[in-house]
Amino acid sequence: KANDSIIYHIELVHDFSMLPTFLQQLGYGRTQKICIVTDSNVAPLYARDVQDLLEKEFDTVILHTFEAGEHNKNLETVNTLYQTLIEQHFDRQDLLIALGGGVVGDLTGFTAATYLRGIDFIQVPTTLLSQVDSSIGGKTGVDFMQYKNMVGAFYQPKLVYMNLSVLQSLPSRQIVSGMGEIIKHGLIKDDAYYEWLMAHHDAILALEPAVMEEMIARSCDIKREVVEHDPTEKGERALLNFGHTIGHAIEKLCGFSLYHGECVGLGILAAAYLSQKQGNLTKEQLAGISQCLAAFGFQTQIGGISPDAVLSATKSDKKMVGSQVKFILLHTIGDAYIYRELSDAQILDGIRYVCRA
Ligand code: NAD
Ligand code: ZN
Repeated sequence: KANDSIIYHIELVHDFSMLPTFLQQLGYGRTQKICIVTDSNVAPLYARDVQDLLEKEFDTVILHTFEAGEHNKNLETVNTLYQTLIEQHFDRQDLLIALGGGVVGDLTGFTAATYLRGIDFIQVPTTLLSQVDSSIGGKTGVDFMQYKNMVGAFYQPKLVYMNLSVLQSLPSRQIVSGMGEIIKHGLIKDDAYYEWLMAHHDAILALEPAVMEEMIARSCDIKREVVEHDPTEKGERALLNFGHTIGHAIEKLCGFSLYHGECVGLGILAAAYLSQKQGNLTKEQLAGISQCLAAFGFQTQIGGISPDAVLSATKSDKKMVGSQVKFILLHTIGDAYIYRELSDAQILDGIRYVCRA
């Protein structure tokens, strides 16, 4: 499990009990101060347990909680965290622990990257999306003005500690949202994994521990492999944006009434349709992807959003190169590539496959 390259240790377990031991193995000792950063939903569920466990081995373990929600992933929340750290005299030896979903992870990672020019941090991701996606790869940051992830840094955690049992308290729509990234992993990198997901959808939705463990491990491996080859997104890492160009645009236009992964599901279907139009996928494969998404609880159509508005929103996306949208398509299931030559008319056709005004 341990890995010496840019990616640290990822541990997959079923409770919090080993966290102090792993920290000791990494060389942290009693006098190192720890600040657990979490949000208002996760705090009442898990913060006490984690704090109690750590207090047995570390002298100072404080808790910093902010109000849950993407709208708090901003510099004001970072400011209050800096203040806590300064008041409690945190220095370069000390440690932050991000206990929560992607919002907590991104914000804590950014704070760790910038406080005193960088202090160590640990990811303890508690949503499916953060376990298979945001906790791995070292992207940290916050939103600024109306722009998502506008301010940030590449900064790696020293450990990613995944307690799979916390998924039991996650609302089911958040599980679906995480599945968007997971189905994406199969489609861009591993057709056998994609087939496995389809065959196990009941067990996955029932959160059966052995199946969840296998799935999360496989998805983490795919994400880790891609980002190890291309940590700062100069090439291959862009494949992880499969389904995200149209997905992000829908996410903005639906006023964030759908979760990120739910929009990615629609974006995946649109991109699969465009891949079929290129002659890469068969109609049966496209229908299979649609059925797979539906089986996991995704909607495969969205009404009330203008396809033209989605098209213009794709152009304000960060994935734009010059005036051309960088689009990820499939050669076949399990093999994705970057395609730059899609015309507006083609993209609009793809958007119309999933969006109705
Ligand atoms: P989130 O952190 O907002 O969590 C979703 C909701 O679930 C929140 O209300 C949270 O309080 C609650 N929650 C978390 N864990 C829970 C649990 N175990 N039980 C019950 N409720 C729980 O959202 P998310 O989907 O985890 O992450 C989305 C964020 O991640 C976005 O800000 C996105 O930009 C970011 N992201 C970052 C990367 C990256 O590479 N850094 C990748 C993908 C997404
Ligand atoms: Zn995503």
